[in-house]
Amino acid sequence: ARLVILGGGESGVGTAILGRNKGFEVFVSDKGEIKDKYKKVLEHFEIDWEEQQHTEDRILNADVVMKSPGIPDTVPLVLRIIEKGIPVISEIEFASKYTDATIIGITGSNGKTTTTMLTNHILEEGGFNVGMAGNIGDSYAKMVAENNFDFYVLEISSFQLDGIVDFKPHIAIITNITPDHLDRYGYKFENYIESKFLITKNQDNHDYLIYDTDDEVLVKWLDENPIQSKLLPFSIEKEVGEGACLVNNEIRINIKGETTMMTTDKLALEGRHNLKNTMAASMAAKLVGIRKETIRQSIENFQGAPHRLEKVLKIHHVQYINDSKATNVNATYYALDSMSSPTVWIVGGVDKGNNYMELMPLVREKVKAIICLGMDNSKIVDVFGNVVDLIVETYAMEEAIKVAYKIAERGDTVLLSPACASFDLFNSYEDRGDQFKEAVKSL
Ligand code: ADP
Repeated sequence: ARLVILGGGESGVGTAILGRNKGFEVFVSDKGEIKDKYKKVLEHFEIDWEEQQHTEDRILNADVVMKSPGIPDTVPLVLRIIEKGIPVISEIEFASKYTDATIIGITGSNGKTTTTMLTNHILEEGGFNVGMAGNIGDSYAKMVAENNFDFYVLEISSFQLDGIVDFKPHIAIITNITPDHLDRYGYKFENYIESKFLITKNQDNHDYLIYDTDDEVLVKWLDENPIQSKLLPFSIEKEVGEGACLVNNEIRINIKGETTMMTTDKLALEGRHNLKNTMAASMAAKLVGIRKETIRQSIENFQGAPHRLEKVLKIHHVQYINDSKATNVNATYYALDSMSSPTVWIVGGVDKGNNYMELMPLVREKVKAIICLGMDNSKIVDVFGNVVDLIVETYAMEEAIKVAYKIAERGDTVLLSPACASFDLFNSYEDRGDQFKEAVKSL
């Protein structure tokens, strides 16, 4: 059969390898440039490819098309493929057909990477043969082609979910749903919510959905759309029966009639949002049979992901924290929420239609100075100008850190949590975070 792959990036090339492996005639087509490292791989496996063009008749001759998540459904070529009745699927759909592993699939607007890494860590500590893939690290399809894992922990974006037909995780986690990527969903929040819940679409009553029951969007959708999956809620605000919640400052997990208590004093990940991520990961681990002692240890010795509330250095009793991955308001909300000392807050970048009002109470309570770091800082200055005594506009990381250093006093925290995308002044959020760390280290 003929498999055409649109997009020659990590997931495209991974899918090409798996497809080739399974006997497909594979053709990779990328409208942009394919990176050299991927070209080498394609040539090594003798897979046909093209770049800077799409040869339409060849593409429209496919039996199945794998579309990389970065390509919107609305581009004319994709519309023509769909019109012709050729199935357009995503990498997770394709790769899952070729593995019998138990799949833990994690989606949500924020907390995916953290929860995925923590879940993977707990399973590894438990001695399980586990692969971590999806939106994170190496291609899932490539792993399926080259490894024989018993478990996969997959970070799954809504774009990956849009391209599923039969895919189902045995355990699904939805961390939360807040408006994001609306440009790809016709500016309708409902469409984005539907897309996230596709993770449960093929689940039956032997499968689980772990979800945040403090999140009204999730709860409302589940009220209106009864699903097959067994529901396991977690909450940091109220007690739940089956699921996870806080009882006297301990996490209580109640699953399959067994109760586990875990102290929150020594958790590796700080902040209330991370309590949620820790609950979700621990529940998934419990479901696949990891011993509670292992879970307890793992959530204490976990090394968090970089750029997510990452403690960089303490200089003259001032803590510097890199939360560059906070590219939307909700993520920054939780960062500010977890601050326990007066905060010098570095914020700004490419605004995605941000509503900063949600942050107002936290800013009033915790922020002593704002350092704007973006090409256009006017909105931030407008919103917080009357609330925070000191607002400084900067246009480069080094400058921002120098200003922060001057302002911060013993006991304060300097927090980079931009609530914005990075592309005005930086290449990526990683680049922004790396520049932050470098500037702090050279103080
Ligand atoms: P994702 O992979 O979904 O983008 P990450 O784990 O990389 O999520 O975290 C992204 C940002 O969101 C970080 O700044 C982090 O502090 C914040 N965050 C993490 N978990 C949560 C959560 N459960 N709720 C809200 N914000 C969160």
